[in-house]
Amino acid sequence: MEPNIVEHTYQISAADRCKANGHNAFLLWFTGLSGSGKSTIANKVELALFEKGIKTYTLDGDNIRKGLNQDLTFSPDDRTENIRRIAEAANLMIDAGLVVLAAFVSPYKKDRENIKTIVKEDNFVEIYINTSVEECERRDVKGLYKKARAGEIKDMTGISSPYEAPIDPDIEIQTENETVAQAVEKILKHIEPKLNLNHE
Ligand code: ADP
Repeated sequence: MEPNIVEHTYQISAADRCKANGHNAFLLWFTGLSGSGKSTIANKVELALFEKGIKTYTLDGDNIRKGLNQDLTFSPDDRTENIRRIAEAANLMIDAGLVVLAAFVSPYKKDRENIKTIVKEDNFVEIYINTSVEECERRDVKGLYKKARAGEIKDMTGISSPYEAPIDPDIEIQTENETVAQAVEKILKHIEPKLNLNHE
């Protein structure tokens, strides 16, 4: 830390906020190729949590790149900085008592390890949305694969830029074998004990 920066001590602790909310706060991190299903599944998980009265917020790739990270490109260094800033933003939201859902390609293992360091391991749930590049390309939700094949996008993950798949994710969803509803159910079941609803 810089010598003249003294960390402020808050009157209300993160634990106080969780107690008031009646649930724990942590980060659900969705990683996978573009078009794999991260946003689709994250949005449905958030809706289910919201309907249970759980305080949530979603950070999504395109939205963050239009605001907080609009100065960043898709070069390896900028991808790393993109994830670092998102993790720091998520960390503040965890501190504020929210269940944060983050849907980002996040192709590098070291960057995902860094998120774990920033938010602390206990607060990090890694969800690997495992969809083959062939299927993502077939879906081509945003037309990005077509552009990448035409050479209009040069750093396209899965085509011209690597994706380092998680080796031991907390949850893995294979969208070619599981429906969105099954994926949501699996995630909700996994996080139920972690939520510690009503702090019983
Ligand atoms: P990402 O956020 O990973 O870029 P999106 O969620 O935007 O991906 O797009 C995924 C697309 O795949 C959506 O059109 C979605 O309807 C479709 N899809 C088909 N089957 C599944 C599934 N089992 N899980 C998630 N998405 C699926």
